[in-house]
Amino acid sequence: MTFLNVVLDPPAYGWSDTNGNLSKPTPKQIFTEFFSRLNIFKNKKNWLPFYSWSKVLISVPFLMLFIFQYFSWSLLAVAFVYSMIIMGTHGTIWHHRYCTHNSYTFRNKFWRFFTQNLTISMIPEEIYVVSHHVHHEKSDMPGDPYNASGGFLYCFLADVNHQPIAKDLSEADYQRAVKLMVNTGITPNTYEQYQKWGSIANPYRTLLSWLLNWGFWAAVFFLIGGFGMVCAVFGAAGVWAVGVRTFNYEGHGKGKDMRRDNYDFSREDMSINQLWPGYVAGEWHNNHHLYPVSARTGFLPHQFDLAWCYIRLMYTLGPVKSFKDSKEEFLEHHYNKK
Ligand SMILES: [Zn+2]
Ligand SMILES: [Zn+2]
Repeated sequence: MTFLNVVLDPPAYGWSDTNGNLSKPTPKQIFTEFFSRLNIFKNKKNWLPFYSWSKVLISVPFLMLFIFQYFSWSLLAVAFVYSMIIMGTHGTIWHHRYCTHNSYTFRNKFWRFFTQNLTISMIPEEIYVVSHHVHHEKSDMPGDPYNASGGFLYCFLADVNHQPIAKDLSEADYQRAVKLMVNTGITPNTYEQYQKWGSIANPYRTLLSWLLNWGFWAAVFFLIGGFGMVCAVFGAAGVWAVGVRTFNYEGHGKGKDMRRDNYDFSREDMSINQLWPGYVAGEWHNNHHLYPVSARTGFLPHQFDLAWCYIRLMYTLGPVKSFKDSKEEFLEHHYNKK
C-alpha cells in the first residue's frame, strides 16, 4: 500500500464499502465518530482535534460579548473583514499555498514565522497539511478526507473524523509524514513521542505557540480598539474557523457535477471555481486542482486573487524569494485554445 493510503487514521465506518465504493456514513455514525475521536480521556492521542475545537469553543464567549455587550456597526465591519477576508486569505497564503504546496519560498525563517502568525491562529497545520496531500491524490474518491459525495457533515467534521494522521504508522511512514510538514517549520515529535501522542506536532510546543500568538494579537487589538475590538476579532476568528469547514463540500460541487464548460478546466475531479471563496480568499479551486503548485490561482481577468497579491507584493519587497506561477501555462493550454 502506498504511503498516502495509510497516512490518515481511517474512520470506524471505513473509507470504502466492500465493493470499493465510498462508504457513506449516516449522520449518527458521523457524530458518534466525531465525539469518540474528540475524547481525550479515552485516548490522549486525540489531543490535536480536541485542541483545534477548543479554540473554536473559547472564541464563542468573545463572540457573545461582542454581540451583546460591545456591538457597533463599525466593529461589525471590522469583524466581517477580519473573518472573511483576512483570515480566509491568510489560510490560502499559509496553510494552503506555502505549507502544503510549497508554491513559493521565503528569504529566511523570520518571514516564514511572520507570515505564519499574521493572524489569530485557529487551524493546526498538521490537520490541514497532511490530509490535504491525500485530498489531491484521491480527489472525490474513497479515501478523500473531505469527499463531497459523503455529504455536508462528512466534510464539515472531517478535521476530526478523517484528517488526523494514523496512530499506527511504521517509523518509515512516520518520517514520510514528517517530511510533508517540513515547510510549516514545526519541530516534529520523535517517533517515540509520536507513539505517545499520536501526532507530529508536540502538544507542549503547540500550546505555547498558541498562547504566544493569541496573547500577542489580544494585546495588539486591545491597544487599537479596547476590549470591544478584542471580542470582535476573536469572535470573528471563531466564526471563520467554523465557516471554513464548509468550503471543501461546496468547493467540490456538494457531491454533484457542477463544473461548467470552458470555465472549470480541471476534469479529473469535481472541483469548481466559485466567486465568493475566490474573491475573499483567492481560492479558485478548480484552477488550483489544475495547477496545484502555482502561487497564483486567479487566472482569468475577473478572478481576483488576494493571496497572490500578498505573495507577489512580498516578492517585490523581498521577504518572498521565489514563486511558481502557472498563469501563462493555463492560458496557453486551456483558455486561449477556445
Ligand atoms: Zn479540492
Ligand atoms: Zn491544494
